[in-house]
Amino acid sequence: MNNAPGPLPPAGHDHDSCVSAAIETAERLCRDRGLRFTALRRRVLTLVWDSHKPIGAYDILDKLGSEGKAAAPPTVYRALEFLIEAGLVHRLDSLNAFIGCPDPARSHAGQFMICRRCRTVLEIDDPEIDAVVAKKAERLGFTSVHQMLEVQGLCANCGESD
Ligand SMILES: [Zn+2]
Ligand SMILES: [Zn+2]
Ligand SMILES: [Zn+2]
Repeated sequence: MNNAPGPLPPAGHDHDSCVSAAIETAERLCRDRGLRFTALRRRVLTLVWDSHKPIGAYDILDKLGSEGKAAAPPTVYRALEFLIEAGLVHRLDSLNAFIGCPDPARSHAGQFMICRRCRTVLEIDDPEIDAVVAKKAERLGFTSVHQMLEVQGLCANCGESD
């Protein structure tokens, strides 16, 4: 089954349906795994899915505050931790920001194309890339624990306008 959105969210697409699909997937995944999808976790995930651009923890705190649902930073960090742990959200280390995963049911490392101009992030999950990195690491006697590939550049929308 592969109903994940294509790699490039077309400009002007119906983003509301991306958000509702992501929330539905999260509900199903949490139910199947016996995880609690609390109101705050749901709200934080919705804020992360606000767009296809990564969001920082402070922006999440700000938005919760402006909705009158201010939460203490450690509470929000714990909610983010939960979402990352569940595979619903990825943390982009180079940006210190978070992005929703379009295909969280399958465990994967993920490779990320980050547009420098509009900050849109495209996630591709290519097991061949994971396998190549794992093989090279093994050859060096290196035990990899966490693999995340971040590529910076221009997305198709931004590249075209040049
Ligand atoms: Zn969308
Ligand atoms: Zn992912
Ligand atoms: Zn772009």
